[in-house]
Amino acid sequence: MRRIVAYLLAMLTCALLLAGTVVAAPAAQAVTPIETRYAQLGGAGGRLGAATSAEVCGLRAGGCYRNYQGGAIVWSPATGAQPSWGAIRQTWRLFGFENGGLGYPTGPEVCGIRDNGCYQNFQGGAIVWSPATGARATGGSIRGAWARTGYEAGGLGYPTTNEVCGLRGGGCYQNYQGGAIIWSPATGARISVGAIRAAWASTHFENGALGYPVTDESCTASGCDQRFQRGVISWSPGGGARIARDIDVAASLFVVVNKRRQLNPARYVPESLVGVEGHLLRRDAAEKFARLLADARASGIGMVPVSGYRSYDTQTSLYASYVNQYGRDTADLISARPGFSEHQTGLAIDIGNPNGACGLQECFAGTPAGDWAARNAWRYGFIIRYPQGFTSVTGYSYEPWHLRYVGITISSEMRLHGLPTLEHYMSLPAAPSY
Ligand SMILES: [Zn+2]
Repeated sequence: MRRIVAYLLAMLTCALLLAGTVVAAPAAQAVTPIETRYAQLGGAGGRLGAATSAEVCGLRAGGCYRNYQGGAIVWSPATGAQPSWGAIRQTWRLFGFENGGLGYPTGPEVCGIRDNGCYQNFQGGAIVWSPATGARATGGSIRGAWARTGYEAGGLGYPTTNEVCGLRGGGCYQNYQGGAIIWSPATGARISVGAIRAAWASTHFENGALGYPVTDESCTASGCDQRFQRGVISWSPGGGARIARDIDVAASLFVVVNKRRQLNPARYVPESLVGVEGHLLRRDAAEKFARLLADARASGIGMVPVSGYRSYDTQTSLYASYVNQYGRDTADLISARPGFSEHQTGLAIDIGNPNGACGLQECFAGTPAGDWAARNAWRYGFIIRYPQGFTSVTGYSYEPWHLRYVGITISSEMRLHGLPTLEHYMSLPAAPSY
């Protein structure tokens, strides 16, 4: 503080001298914090070498800098005068110097950490350099998670990338020598390493069936496990990594049923079926569907449920009647074999217009109820499960009347990222046929 006051007084004196004099001889130069720091660092004989610019002020938050052959000294009232050079300076430049998320350096470069590394702290984080990994910026929640592991001295070692953002759901990651840290607004910053990370990679990371990790690894003598948004990966010394995905669990909201993925057990019956105008749905789906119906009607759109939960036995006779009527090939395009119907999950509902217009036909898409559902169903956690143009993925013709409840998170993300089917969302293989 004393230095800053002295600096301001000196600047003021200098300004007064300049204003009040017309003498040709130069006024005595004030010693600025940058000059003081330069002298401490060895002046022209130190790492910075000779000055290559004058002192430039007017930076963000009242800062100044001066460039030298070997770098710069950057000063601000809040952070003092700090040297900036080498690879760490290059990365700071990449982030926009003091105008970027890192802000001003709050100390000098500090070297002598693991494997001959160096770091420099900034207002918004730090830049960490090692000969093997280069200079990488760390900040925010991801830096917080790295701190939990003991920074570069811990199992993750040095960062090998900067933060990479723009992942699904607004997430970011940063890779390290020993793994990665993954952050999303919904799940926080989580550490991902070793065999469990390799297993997660095999499911396409956050883009796959498991989604983001929601915990770090938790280990006991018998092994480790890590929870994800839609499943768990467990590892044991004898058994390696085992993946338990919710999409394989009939009772899960995230279950995926298609022609390659029969319900398990095939005769599965949901536990809590609730009636909505005579059609059964699982409780959470029923509540959201009742709200969807009410809101459609409140905005003047007639809409009625046509078919909700169907048991294995109901599906058996329905499928048999389609086979009788149209033959097996056509029956498979418009109907599911028993044990393969999404209606058996209690999460699917067919809708129609009250007058039955275009009932269970493609032209339903052009009717008021079909239009309204296409525009609004996602707000209630429903998707059009068999969209137009994706028969080769879903195995079914376009069914603008067939809604599947997946919850608002998935319905929103599918819409936001333009993912047309649940197979796309979960990174599952296409299921065009049995
Ligand atoms: Zn249906």
